[in-house]
Amino acid sequence: MGDSEVLSSVPTNDDRDFDEQIRPQRLDDFPGQEPIKEKLLIAIQAARARNESLDHLLLSGPPGLGKTTLARILANEMGVDIKTTSGPVVERQADLSAILTSLEEFDILFIDEVHRLNHAVEETLYSAMEDFEVDIMLGKGPTARSMRIGLKPFTLIGATTRAGLLTPPLRARFGDTCRFDFYSPEELETIVLRTARILNTPIDPGGALEIASRSRGTARIANRLLRRVRDYAQVKGDGTITREMADAALDLLRIDELGLDDMDKSIVRTVIEKFGGGPVGLSSLAVAIGEEAKTLEEVHEPFLIQTGFLKRTPQGRVATPNAYRHFGLQPPADAQPRLF
Ligand code: ADP
Repeated sequence: MGDSEVLSSVPTNDDRDFDEQIRPQRLDDFPGQEPIKEKLLIAIQAARARNESLDHLLLSGPPGLGKTTLARILANEMGVDIKTTSGPVVERQADLSAILTSLEEFDILFIDEVHRLNHAVEETLYSAMEDFEVDIMLGKGPTARSMRIGLKPFTLIGATTRAGLLTPPLRARFGDTCRFDFYSPEELETIVLRTARILNTPIDPGGALEIASRSRGTARIANRLLRRVRDYAQVKGDGTITREMADAALDLLRIDELGLDDMDKSIVRTVIEKFGGGPVGLSSLAVAIGEEAKTLEEVHEPFLIQTGFLKRTPQGRVATPNAYRHFGLQPPADAQPRLF
């Protein structure tokens, strides 16, 4: 893994095996996201008591916060199977029908990036979600006809980083939406300590908190930084992750005390230095920093907004006075709270 990938909240190939090893399997082994867990625990108990499938559920929030993990946990807790796919992968109605008809009673179908389903596939999903029925085409050409067949009751769990892009008819068919929040440093500390235990890595609480506070509120990043710091501690020390060890390793990775990496810094500095603090449109900003607009919007911006460095306004992105101060710059006189 290159340094540029270390803070990315989207999974790399390297992550996938590791994910399997450390993924929490049960709700009570999943630190953080308390309001979501509380709600889901009730939903699970109610569905079980009524011997019904769970309501269709939409999980929304930035990448790396645990949406996929939680979907798998729900399957474990319900004692059912889970089939996993992703919006852009299901290209044809027939692909979706094939998956749907293979589901057993109460099984979970997890569709990642559900906002990226194409229109025809999405329409097939409507009757599947609402009536547990699906139209399938028999034959080809002029003699083709469609037949409606029944499905076993199942639960659709959709995950999205862009809840706003879901069409209203699809959104309306989810019984509930769980919005994932960035983790607090204390929650990430618990996650880091848990992962270190699984990896048999000695770590003291100071070391765990140091990693946690530089992980931009994201579980995937915390786990990934832990691995990098573990390597460093093994080579430079006796293998124990102390605060000093974590600090030195993260400095080497050029991750600052807030978890900002070079790309984040470049985004904020560009808004300040090239666009006079903004407002600047997403596409102009993307061109100026040489990054894709989509990556900028989905991966980098949410954390910069959460940190209070960047604001999204109808006119474009604006650097806040805090952003100026973080870089030792004087905010312009009119950069006090502006009303747009
Ligand atoms: P998403 O689907 O939101 O992109 P994932 O569910 O794939 O995120 O989680 C990314 C990684 O972070 C996985 O390795 C997962 O085990 C870990 N993770 C996510 N949330 C938690 C949590 N609350 N506690 C421990 N590990 C977590």
